[in-house]
Amino acid sequence: MKSAPFIRHVPKTVDEALRILAEVAPHDGRVLAGGQSLVPIMAFRLAKPAHLVDINEVAGLDRIANDGTMLTIAARVRHAAFHKPVVENPVGYLLSAVVRHIAHYPIRMRGTFCGSLAHADPASEWCLVVATLDAAVVAKSARGERVIAAKDFFTGIMSTVLAEDELLAEARLPLLPKDTKFGFNEFSRRAGDFAMAASLVAYRLDAGKIAEARVGLGGAESFPRRIAEAEAALNGRIPSGEVFRSAAEAAAKVIDPLEDHQTNADYRRDLVRAVVRRALEQST
Ligand SMILES: Cc1cc2nc3c(=O)[nH]c(=O)nc-3n(C[C@H](O)[C@H](O)[C@H](O)COP(=O)(O)OP(=O)(O)OC[C@H]3O[C@@H](n4cnc5c(N)ncnc54)[C@H](O)[C@@H]3O)c2cc1C
Repeated sequence: MKSAPFIRHVPKTVDEALRILAEVAPHDGRVLAGGQSLVPIMAFRLAKPAHLVDINEVAGLDRIANDGTMLTIAARVRHAAFHKPVVENPVGYLLSAVVRHIAHYPIRMRGTFCGSLAHADPASEWCLVVATLDAAVVAKSARGERVIAAKDFFTGIMSTVLAEDELLAEARLPLLPKDTKFGFNEFSRRAGDFAMAASLVAYRLDAGKIAEARVGLGGAESFPRRIAEAEAALNGRIPSGEVFRSAAEAAAKVIDPLEDHQTNADYRRDLVRAVVRRALEQST
């Protein structure tokens, strides 16, 4: 099926993009970034935007910057930019480890980091990364700019606090202490499929004991989040299989599992148990 008719706008600057977005948002206008989610949805006529504000020619939106404390990823940075570490910091290595789980190579060449955040699929790997790292996003509109913490950004399945006239201009990821250990694991039926559950973990060792634990979970609930109960099961303990299993158990116990035609709540809890434990085992 072909998409419904639409008008494509091709701004060259952020200001021009925001001005057009302000005009067309009330008339069913949307941002087009990599098109790897929006175009298929339009082809199936599940979305029929009357206007697309194509940001692919906007100057400066392919910027990745590191100021020593923060990694800034602008709106048109493609997934593929992270195939190699973009910064000499655990965050750079973590992004490289995670990116190869996103779809397939051609999709990673077009799809964008910020587009994934705006689309907010519960199983999105980048949504899991920003939630686990307590990152922030910058939303810009003709009305101004606001910085939104990841924990306040996602509101449900494919739903965020972004207003229709807002451009998600950049994501800001805090860099991690150099001695941070991390692990990532996801379960999907086939390579390149969306994850049925995924976990990203990070922590440091303080005198041999786990400190500053982060246990992020994606694909299991409406949106990714840190699981405080699992982190509490890790902090202050010496890493071991038993400690990792107890953290995984804590995560499986507290989630509000998504259910769909192939996954009931019990199965999702089982997957969570497995991905959290495996991510922790991988981190040592
Ligand atoms: C076969 C297949 C497999 C896939 N597998 C995975 C996977 O395993 N993991 C995964 O995470 N993703 C997967 N994807 C999705 C892919 O990663 C998309 O690239 C991503 O979800 C959206 O990014 P995009 O730049 O393509 O956004 P688009 O498709 O251009 O836009 C998606 C939505 O976000 C909005 N949007 C985009 N950018 C902005 C912005 N800067 N500001 C405001 N709104 C914006 C658009 O208006 C639209 O509503 C898959 C896609 C396909 C086709």
